[in-house]
Amino acid sequence: MRIDVLTIFPEYLAPLELSLAGKAREKGLIDVRVHDLRQWAHDKHRTVDDTPYGGGAGMVMKPEPWGEAFDELGIEGATVVFTTPSGQPFTQAVARDLASRERIVFACGRYEGIDQRVLDEAATRAEVREISLGDYVLNGGEVAALAITEAVVRLVPGFMGNAESLVEESHEDGLLEYPVYTKPAAWRGHDVPPVLLSGDHGAIAAWRREQAVRRTAQRRPDLVHPSVPLEGVEIRPVQ
Ligand code: SAM
Repeated sequence: MRIDVLTIFPEYLAPLELSLAGKAREKGLIDVRVHDLRQWAHDKHRTVDDTPYGGGAGMVMKPEPWGEAFDELGIEGATVVFTTPSGQPFTQAVARDLASRERIVFACGRYEGIDQRVLDEAATRAEVREISLGDYVLNGGEVAALAITEAVVRLVPGFMGNAESLVEESHEDGLLEYPVYTKPAAWRGHDVPPVLLSGDHGAIAAWRREQAVRRTAQRRPDLVHPSVPLEGVEIRPVQ
């Protein structure tokens, strides 16, 4: 998978050079390229923003640098992800969907966002996705691009040493993960649930499933499918 990130703060993407991309790069699974949008701005100050038509506070990212960047990078055949609080909420299902793409181009907004025509024009040449990290406003799209990249890359086949650990994770089966424990069996007066020491794989699987359902019902009742039996589980939303 090739990932291009367009940003006016390329240094913000430095974590991609660390363990995640490093590991994936070593394995030849991903090719990450971070680009400074300002290289496609041609005035003395490399301006990428201007005042909004119609008035209002703040600045809007100009279309020309984005258009030139897309032309030079060639977005045809890629999925262009615009990070925006107005986008589709990012979930594990969206991550899994994106993990099947051969090429993702992230467009990281700043200021009050990107001129709408950039998205409209890109959509005539590529798949465009508008994705939100959550219902809050960040200063820029870089943190969202980092989070999305991390969630997507670990789903690329061959990235995780043990693919089974992916299957059991929170959100993969619509449930949050059950609590996990390691050695020692007793620690500061807290014991590991005896069933996990029993060696009875059926009982362990049943206990984990019950814990996952209970935890999901208590913390995220919105995630529980109506077909999941919830007898005896107290439902209270997380504050
Ligand atoms: N005026 C915009 C609005 O109200 O929707 C917010 C602009 S925000 C200050 C600047 C940039 O940060 C956005 O263009 C977007 O790229 C990014 N951003 C902010 N919040 C985000 C979120 N929740 N998810 C993804 N990107 C976000």
